[in-house]
Amino acid sequence: MKIAILSGKGGTGKTTVATNLALNYKNAVLVDADVEEPNSHIFIKPDIKKTESVYNNYPVVDSEKCDLCGDCGRFCHYNAILPAKKSVLVFKEICHDCGGCKIVCKKDAISYEKREIGKIFSGKGIAGIPFIYGDLNVGEVSGVKIISKLKEIVEQEDLVIIDSPPGTSCATVEAIEGVDYAVIVSEPTPFGVSDMKMVVEMLEKMHIPFGIVVNKAGLGDDEIYEYCQGKAIEVLENIPFSEEIAKMYAVGEMMCTGQEQYNTYFENIIHKIKKQTINH
Ligand code: SF4
Ligand code: SF4
Repeated sequence: MKIAILSGKGGTGKTTVATNLALNYKNAVLVDADVEEPNSHIFIKPDIKKTESVYNNYPVVDSEKCDLCGDCGRFCHYNAILPAKKSVLVFKEICHDCGGCKIVCKKDAISYEKREIGKIFSGKGIAGIPFIYGDLNVGEVSGVKIISKLKEIVEQEDLVIIDSPPGTSCATVEAIEGVDYAVIVSEPTPFGVSDMKMVVEMLEKMHIPFGIVVNKAGLGDDEIYEYCQGKAIEVLENIPFSEEIAKMYAVGEMMCTGQEQYNTYFENIIHKIKKQTINH
């Protein structure tokens, strides 16, 4: 079973929920697919055993063969290849490695070279949790390929918790595609609820069952509960706003390793997820 943890925006407690769930969910593999800003490793403190690079291909044009016909430029949806008056310009940072320009080039003038866009790290974290995360290089525009690679690596695992990118970007869609269940983490504030609604819409369109964890409960108002009730969305748990939890987060400490009484929140979430995914 694959479970995605996501949120409308960063800073809502998504990583707190993902890491503490992994600690409480027996035999779970934790994947940090928030490759633009991975931070689960700060809490999981992994002993990294393996590091591998992820590459993107980009086109290189043989000027001897190219007749500047312009077909490649017309084909590229990302404007990453641009036939100009005297040569073809390639913007490798925005190339999405679709392979199309080579196919449309009648002169066979295009070949591909590769460049590193990020890395994948794997090992074991606190309590022996199998852990893997991706890290997109600074300046790169898309981490989709790294996320896809992360998912490929854990494809055969029985239980995977995916800390997904926030929002509703291509990277988020890639991270949650094919998961069995999703947990949205949201704060009960008007901004939190507004961002969360977009994520709810995305999950509904993708037909992924989901529930909501209200983090920092007690702040804000009741809008989130009224919204969930109106749409019959299950609130899996309320994690209260607490200075103690905030302090633990600030020093990279997990709730459930610092204070065992917090385990109950995550045990409840797991119990409710199991009830909702009984056939998996
Ligand atoms: S399609 Fe091929 S021949 Fe035409 S401009 Fe591009 S590289 Fe040159
Ligand atoms: S590989 Fe695809 S994205 Fe990259 S330059 Fe060619 S057509 Fe554009």
